[in-house]
Amino acid sequence: MKTNLHNSIIEQLLLNNAITRKDLVKLFNIRPASLYSAIDALKSSGLLHEPERVGKRTGRKASSLKFNSKHAYFIGIDLRPRKIFGSIIDLSGNITTTLYSEFDPTGSSEQLVAALLAFIDELIIKSNLDREKLQGLALADPGLVDRHNLVSVIAVTIDNWRNVPTGQIIAKHTGISNIIIESGANAGTFMEYSMIKPHLPESLFNLAIGDGVGSGLIKNGQLFFGATNSGMEIGHLIINPGGTLCQCGNRGCLETVISTPTIEKKIETLIEHRVNSTLTSGNFSIEKFIDAVKCNDKGALSIAAELCANIAIALQAVVALINPEIIIISGKLTGLGDMMLNNIRQYLELNCQPAAISQIKIKLSSLDQFATSQGAALLAREKYLLGAVNK
Ligand SMILES: [Zn+2]
Repeated sequence: MKTNLHNSIIEQLLLNNAITRKDLVKLFNIRPASLYSAIDALKSSGLLHEPERVGKRTGRKASSLKFNSKHAYFIGIDLRPRKIFGSIIDLSGNITTTLYSEFDPTGSSEQLVAALLAFIDELIIKSNLDREKLQGLALADPGLVDRHNLVSVIAVTIDNWRNVPTGQIIAKHTGISNIIIESGANAGTFMEYSMIKPHLPESLFNLAIGDGVGSGLIKNGQLFFGATNSGMEIGHLIINPGGTLCQCGNRGCLETVISTPTIEKKIETLIEHRVNSTLTSGNFSIEKFIDAVKCNDKGALSIAAELCANIAIALQAVVALINPEIIIISGKLTGLGDMMLNNIRQYLELNCQPAAISQIKIKLSSLDQFATSQGAALLAREKYLLGAVNK
């Protein structure tokens, strides 16, 4: 099975989840007989099914082609400095199993790998699936990755996570050959993209704010990586030259002005200077900070306004260079809600070219904490589906 037509059918199903034979004939402008034989080949391979079609005739309404959910399953792992999330999805992209665990980032490289493999084993056991049904695994890595050689290159947040051949290790341990090693920001971005309904956007930029700051860009359904796998590192865009030293070695990067540890430091400074605020030193959490903003706490509001201004400066560069159809902001800070959206939009409207900003949709992510692991699993599914056709 190796034709452009097979691939085109799969691509249409990845975009639409369900599509009729009639729609495909119209879309591809080909003879029904050629299309039907390609569909039959995909159905007999087990990838697709057509639940409402009986024999060669459909019922009164046109039956839809769909992925055959139970044909194959895919694992997505989201490894973070202190947490690890896992999701398993079926061939239709539905979540069937999730698992969360704490992760100790202080161990040796061998201990980190052992903990990762133990987590994968636990997830597979929880799923109750036969191993041969598992047709792909994607690891959303906390640092820089070598996608081609499937290596976790370096993570500034985990000391011993350097030059680990994660792809090879996972493949050997699980017996799964379809492995992807991707950055957490890209896996999260792919999930955000996949959730846009009813039509997938032409381009989407995702700004992910957490302990670090990451971003991802999707254009025409494809993630953008850059020539040396180092593109979309918005966290290291310098916002405040000469400012605080960043873990990358530069000063004043976006990460140093908006990340979670920075907010904590700003609150401590505020308390030292006896600014009128209900915020207290110690026991910091982003949730408490957001609650204080929502209660119109003066100190918290001034920090939030400063954070939004710094985010907007970085996004202005994104709008000027990329002009995406949608900008998504994800991470816990999105709890700031409309206050954040309004501040950022106001800044962008004032400072961007009108033609670049007038149509842009800016949204706060509404996905949960398993989103990045699900995005990783979706990447593994896509690679499997397009690879299965090319065999
Ligand atoms: Zn930096």
